[in-house]
Amino acid sequence: MLETTTSNDLLGATAHWTAGVRAMENEREDRLFADPWAAALAGQVGAAWIEHRSAESVVPIVIRTRYFDDFLQRITGGEGIQQVVLLAAGLDTRAFRLNWPEKIRLFELDQAAVLAYKEQILRSANGQPGCERQAIGVDLTSPWQEPLLKSGFNPAQPSLWLLEGFLFYLPNEVIAQILDAVTDLAAAGSWLGFDIINSVMLTFPLTKQWVEMQAKAGAPWIGTMDDPVEFLAARGWRAGLTQAGAEDASYGRWPFPVIPTTMPGMPHNWYVTATKILP
Ligand code: SAM
Repeated sequence: MLETTTSNDLLGATAHWTAGVRAMENEREDRLFADPWAAALAGQVGAAWIEHRSAESVVPIVIRTRYFDDFLQRITGGEGIQQVVLLAAGLDTRAFRLNWPEKIRLFELDQAAVLAYKEQILRSANGQPGCERQAIGVDLTSPWQEPLLKSGFNPAQPSLWLLEGFLFYLPNEVIAQILDAVTDLAAAGSWLGFDIINSVMLTFPLTKQWVEMQAKAGAPWIGTMDDPVEFLAARGWRAGLTQAGAEDASYGRWPFPVIPTTMPGMPHNWYVTATKILP
């Protein structure tokens, strides 16, 4: 079975890690979401990674998944948006496991090898998407807009974007480049969600162990943003922030002390949601 484990594809392996977390969550009676495909998608790479993690250490990924599940369902359900773009979709199965309104077109962009592996697993599990889904293999650090447009994405209509578990792997200038491209393609009334760490996260004693684990695995966290609200306001978006443990992102599962969402000098792994207010 093909798995994305080659040394030139270490970022692709991180998609197996998060699938491994979803597989573990899927086994719980009090699970925050169901992902019946996660274990097969995680494969040996995901299973081996999760074996070395404590249950507490992956709670942020569980909460993040549920938070953005709810975000996608709320916006497609309430705002009438019919185009959803998952940048760095990895082995995410939201196209298959969420309850989508009619006429949703969902575009998944990631490395071609990751998407090919995903197709193979989902096909053999007979997975059927609950929306019109297109997988587009691209390098998101190079221009990727053309393949998306050719696949039928309509920039004149509002859209909903999610970049989950992705931006911390990129240099800050590439983060800006990608979010500029999203801004260009997003009509007024569009929505955007992503998670992002602040720079304190990279040096804070309590987060050091995780940051070192990422680096050792060849997928170092490097990209940060210290003021996502201001960053997005400059691009015509009105944004809000929350983080795991906050009242709207805890689900009764946060095991650590709660850090106020914008407390200076503290590490933050923010969930950013924003709506495009300028054309
Ligand atoms: N969003 C998914 C999730 O939360 O499970 C996947 C997150 S995974 C931690 C990071 C993903 O970013 C991987 O699937 C990897 O292939 C993708 N990625 C990293 N750099 C990329 C690039 N330059 N082009 C396309 N995808 C990239």
